[in-house]
Amino acid sequence: MNQQDAARHIEQLAKQLGAKLFFDVDIYGAVAETVSRTVHLSPWGASDDWRDQYWPALHELGHVATEPHKRTDFFEQFVGIPPEKIAEFEAEAWDWAFQHGNPEADIEVGKNLARLALGGYVDRAPKHFLENPSPVLGRVAREIASAPRLRKYETTALPPRWRNATNRLIQNVNELANAA
Ligand SMILES: [Zn+2]
Repeated sequence: MNQQDAARHIEQLAKQLGAKLFFDVDIYGAVAETVSRTVHLSPWGASDDWRDQYWPALHELGHVATEPHKRTDFFEQFVGIPPEKIAEFEAEAWDWAFQHGNPEADIEVGKNLARLALGGYVDRAPKHFLENPSPVLGRVAREIASAPRLRKYETTALPPRWRNATNRLIQNVNELANAA
């Protein structure tokens, strides 16, 4: 699998979902607007590793696939939505990405990116929700926990509290699994 295959796969999934793709944001700016089924991605080649664009593209398509009517406006997508619900949407979109991604694209890259991306949302979610996460958030946390940590993604400059929040979630999920 190469960048061209990745691009073709994303186009194909977008077509199936009736999603419109725009390649008009930078590498960190990928975003989905789910009511209009519009996905903004960085142009292929913006990263020297196409997998760093493929998995976020799948994640954004996952938003379109899993929450078609939940977000009303690109700029107001978080207004009035409780933080645990947002964490849930994010987990659903990653869950979809893991299920639909081509395994030849190194799913551990996707899982390492998910670990980074979920941090901010998980950090904002209430403690009681993270101590007893929803099934989908629990599933995604287990997936992330099972992936080898790739050094490249360990060194990005994100607030440490975001990384800690994801680690705490994973710890909770493991404790729940052990208690069951
Ligand atoms: Zn997202």
